[in-house]
Amino acid sequence: MQGTIRKLKSTLTSPVEYQLPIGDELVSLNDYIGKPLTLTFTGNIFCCNCGKKTKKSYSQGHCFVCMRKLASCDMCIMKPETCHFDKGTCREPQWGEENCMIPHYVYLANTSGLKVGITRHTQIPTRWIDQGATQALPIFKVQTRLQSGLVEVALAEFIADKTNWRNMLKGQSEAIDLKAAAAELIPQIDAKLSELAELFGATAIEKLDEDVVELDYPVSEYPSKISSFNFDKAPEVSGILKGIKGQYLIFDTGVINIRKFTSYEISLA
Ligand SMILES: [Zn+2]
Repeated sequence: MQGTIRKLKSTLTSPVEYQLPIGDELVSLNDYIGKPLTLTFTGNIFCCNCGKKTKKSYSQGHCFVCMRKLASCDMCIMKPETCHFDKGTCREPQWGEENCMIPHYVYLANTSGLKVGITRHTQIPTRWIDQGATQALPIFKVQTRLQSGLVEVALAEFIADKTNWRNMLKGQSEAIDLKAAAAELIPQIDAKLSELAELFGATAIEKLDEDVVELDYPVSEYPSKISSFNFDKAPEVSGILKGIKGQYLIFDTGVINIRKFTSYEISLA
């Protein structure tokens, strides 16, 4: 089987079910766990937006032109607190309207420890699975991406906003009482929340009382030391598939972040 790959698709079951989009096919990866799997990069990369061949992949699977043009590749996507839609400078206002000027959630998650993150309502629980979170708890619902970014930045003064992916892949992180963590954290940003209520209106930022979502991953064995594959350096990734967590395939021979290689043409055997 051969085709360009996309980030892993997932379904929240216990454990999470993963599929690899390759060309027009979807390969059920859970079936390969415990079995040999080889992914070989053909050397071709086709932009996930325009389909043109590109020598290098920019912004996870784009050609240079699309990376410069698309709102989804703008810096503000990585840093939502810098959303500039209101200034009238969004690269694609229509896209911004549909993807950023819509309800977002601020959540706590346990990835390689406690972290804060944000996501669109449509990306729950996908976002958590992509990060390899074992627990997640939405704590605020807000009206826009910008607002979610501002709340996240306030919370990131106290806890991490990044995942240590090496630790995430080394095993099951210890359970955290996310409800208790939220109860301790939220009062610490009280002043900031009042400030945001002044700016955006009293009902813009809604505090939630949700249940913790537990996630578990199809991993038969975690690696004790992590070495990572890179199609740009060696075109063949081969080994016994030991598990899948986040966007990573865990082989007995090393790990690979599939999302990083979106748009790469791969043959699977
Ligand atoms: Zn393109």
